[in-house]
Amino acid sequence: MDCIFCGIIDGQIPSEKVYEDDLVLAFRDINPEAPVHILVVPKTHVSSCDMINGDNSSLVSAIFEAIPKIAAKEGLSNGYRVITNVGEDGGQSVKHLHFHILGGKKLPVHLC
Ligand code: 5GP
Ligand code: ZN
Repeated sequence: MDCIFCGIIDGQIPSEKVYEDDLVLAFRDINPEAPVHILVVPKTHVSSCDMINGDNSSLVSAIFEAIPKIAAKEGLSNGYRVITNVGEDGGQSVKHLHFHILGGKKLPVHLC
């Protein structure tokens, strides 16, 4: 499968990792849109939020347990935003489930 994030998880593609556990990897976005811009992904391939079901939703729990730890490590005590884009209309460019953590500045309120 030709998936950039699976390549990062495998170590084939370099990344700046900021957090890792059995199920989850987090690394800095290559094209940051905020002073802190981190991507949090499951280590197993799930293509998007649209493919979450009762068999794999524990990955989402693991991701959301990791997010506060990552935010604390990054000093985001004043808040941050978590976003996942889904499919064409959602603007998803990498088809491996990922949650953006954006912070380090006051973010604009409106997305569209
Ligand atoms: P999406 O648009 O799918 O929600 O977000 C994909 C994100 O992955 C983008 O913000 C993009 O900058 C980031 N990205 C794409 N390729 C790479 C890569 O090879 N390494 C890293 N660290 N980030 C990437
Ligand atoms: Zn993948």
